[in-house]
Amino acid sequence: MTDCLFCKIVTGDVPATVVEETDRVVAFRDINPQAPTHVLIIPKGHHPTVADLARDDPATLAELLLTGESVAKAEGIRDPGYRVVFNTGTGAGQTVFHVHAHVLGGRGLNWPPG
Ligand code: 5GP
Ligand code: ZN
Repeated sequence: MTDCLFCKIVTGDVPATVVEETDRVVAFRDINPQAPTHVLIIPKGHHPTVADLARDDPATLAELLLTGESVAKAEGIRDPGYRVVFNTGTGAGQTVFHVHAHVLGGRGLNWPPG
């Protein structure tokens, strides 16, 4: 989609600090980090929500989650642990409608989240 910010990150039209990339997904640092590690992982194809991606391309959703684990290991937060968040819908705080996993860690993470 030409008017989608994260599609433009996939094509390189919008710059991002990429930390990992596969044929199907890209992981890059959030521009406004909420934790010492805050990486976003997106599929290269445009799908608005995580459920859309699960329906349309479950293999890519699995790859996205495994890339999250790989990023967490590289960042040294696999242990003690990290959080994966998919905000879905405006009421949950989704502002970019190209599905993205937030991978957060490196500080104490409260449960339940706000
Ligand atoms: P959402 O609120 O949709 O769950 O998450 C969108 C995330 O994208 C936010 O955490 C926000 O900081 C991040 N973000 C918005 N614009 C950009 C950008 O241009 N570059 C990067 N790297 N992150 C962005
Ligand atoms: Zn998109």
